[in-house]
Amino acid sequence: MRGFIHILENVFKYLILFLLKMICLGIESTAHTFGAGIVDSEKRVLANIKDSFTTEKGGIVPAKAADHHVEVCDKVINEALETAKLSIKDIDLISFSQAPGIGHCLRIGAFAARSLAMFHNIPIIGVNHCIAHLSIGEMLTGATDPVLLYASGANTQIIAYEGKKYRVFGESLDMGVGNFLDSFARYIGLGFPGGPKIYELALKGKKFIELPYSVKGMDVSFGGLLTNLKQKFDSGKYRVEDLCYSLQETVFAMLVEVSERAMAHCGKNELLLGGGVACNKRLQEMAKEMCKERSAKCFIPENEFLVDNGAMIAWQGILEYSAGKRMSIEESVILPYQRVDEVVVNWKD
Ligand code: AMP
Ligand code: MG
Repeated sequence: MRGFIHILENVFKYLILFLLKMICLGIESTAHTFGAGIVDSEKRVLANIKDSFTTEKGGIVPAKAADHHVEVCDKVINEALETAKLSIKDIDLISFSQAPGIGHCLRIGAFAARSLAMFHNIPIIGVNHCIAHLSIGEMLTGATDPVLLYASGANTQIIAYEGKKYRVFGESLDMGVGNFLDSFARYIGLGFPGGPKIYELALKGKKFIELPYSVKGMDVSFGGLLTNLKQKFDSGKYRVEDLCYSLQETVFAMLVEVSERAMAHCGKNELLLGGGVACNKRLQEMAKEMCKERSAKCFIPENEFLVDNGAMIAWQGILEYSAGKRMSIEESVILPYQRVDEVVVNWKD
């Protein structure tokens, strides 16, 4: 009998959530950023707060980034609630980035989400971070069936929805483009994140220096290019501004080339940018130019939603929960290596 009442209670709760506006708190913690976003089912972003682990020298040390997340998680979540003028009691759903990412970091977000869900008896749902980038882009820009150029720190992938799944049509065979930029920046004495610093130097570059252009089929790689750049830097024969300018021209051309090929292959005429590297104005310019040439549309969300953020996790939670996906606390384990095509898509079509 108690079981039956429990089922009835749940049915009633879900019915109310379905009929009423749903508010979701999304927690992001795949890598350097701990973010908390609050989004409602009417597509309003009520808060999007983040605090990122940065260093003056060196890259992300997983344990240190996780320590950072532990330190800031209360503050970030509370600030999101204050910004949205809500209390935790107003939250109908808690979503968190379940995959993919650095295990140390993912664990902190999952722990925070689980604690809040259990303590306040709120449903929980874990989502795939890469798909969340695509969904928030669609929600904000009106793109309907885009190819996503996901250019972030750890990930560089060309993702699109085909045959009822998100699929990777091209990707980096070694490091993410952001990690490549950060590695070179670190080598020449700039801090983390290096992408914006390289961008500033590139603006002062005048001369194009030929660099290895590494596109293999639909994939790209940056390792050889990084070694070549380090050698050129060490030789002292080149201006650092010219190296930064040339590396941007080269790697962004590689990314735009494979994006275009994926669009042609899938017969899609929308390109969506996502990931921190997509904040780069030169990459945006090149992507727009390519789209213009093939009469396609180029969608670029605001920087706040390109970088890792909690709002996209919240929106993805709403999409999946509204479509009927449920997750128990036991199921809310982190999946550091999950790929987008492993995700069962229940919210499209
Ligand atoms: P994400 O992992 O998506 O948050 O993106 C982080 C990466 O974006 C880091 O590697 C940064 O160096 C890079 N990034 C941020 N802003 C820019 C920019 N304006 N140009 C190039 N890279 C950038
Ligand atoms: Mg990301």
